Amino acid sequence: MKIRLGPDGMHVFDRRTGLNVLLDEIEPPKRAWATAPRQVSVAVTNACDLACSYCYAPKHRAVLEKSDVFRWMDELDQAGALGVGFGGGEPTLYRHLPEVCAHAAEKTDLAVTMTTHGLRWNADLISRLRGTVNFVRVSVDGVGSTYERLRGRSFTQLRAALDAIAGDFRWGINTVINQDTIGDLDALVAVAAEHGASEFLLLPEQPTGGTTGAGEETLRVLQEWVAAYTGPVPLATSAQAELGVSTADALPREVGLRSYAHIDASGTARASSYAARGVRIGEDGVIAALEQLAQVEAA
Ligand code: SF4
Repeated sequence: MKIRLGPDGMHVFDRRTGLNVLLDEIEPPKRAWATAPRQVSVAVTNACDLACSYCYAPKHRAVLEKSDVFRWMDELDQAGALGVGFGGGEPTLYRHLPEVCAHAAEKTDLAVTMTTHGLRWNADLISRLRGTVNFVRVSVDGVGSTYERLRGRSFTQLRAALDAIAGDFRWGINTVINQDTIGDLDALVAVAAEHGASEFLLLPEQPTGGTTGAGEETLRVLQEWVAAYTGPVPLATSAQAELGVSTADALPREVGLRSYAHIDASGTARASSYAARGVRIGEDGVIAALEQLAQVEAA
């Protein structure tokens, strides 16, 4: 169990089960609040072996030094972060992935999550990650021919990978919602349930330089679908998404960089992976960069 103090009280977290308990009758003094964000996503590499048209990952070549990732995780752990989420690009193309996950599991109390396309999770990789990753998020944006058109890979191959992942890890599906994928939501939930997923994460497509995002009509259909949902797999969404339904916010005062930050594959700290502004993490460490970023964001 890890304890994090903040403006909303005492937060107790168990990385093995994902259990969160907030003791909000406790009011920790400000000097005792965690100085790290609750969760930090880390793009360990920009490399990816797929070419999804709606991908917003940077396309320049960049990869993090293993020693930097070790150092930043140690610092974030000591400053009260609860978890790191490795992504990219495709994190399984990062050759140090098993080592950084093992470091998090053995040397810190951080929970490790990972966002992956899932297609490289063979027996060898699974054996090297077993016991060091607390939750795997697999990006699946449609079933059958929709998936194959968008991702350019076999859906049968994906289903075999989901079975392999489900054998050793808690896992869930991430779905980018746009006009191509909105019609597959029911079928996706069925696939998620069949393979034992414990979460279905809805991510309305964000507008980027090359794409217009989910669009008004798609968002309207999504809101209706969510409101009528009675399926077997719990739904989740990102903090940025507006799904038009009431959601509980257990930590209403832990917002912005207190809640979440992103480190890109060039070693720059940002408020999110979409954020244009960022602060390069230097020798003085990740918390110093995040403090500087908070000043930049407030200016
Ligand atoms: S799998 Fe992810 S990182 Fe790779 S191209 Fe597709 S969206 Fe981008």
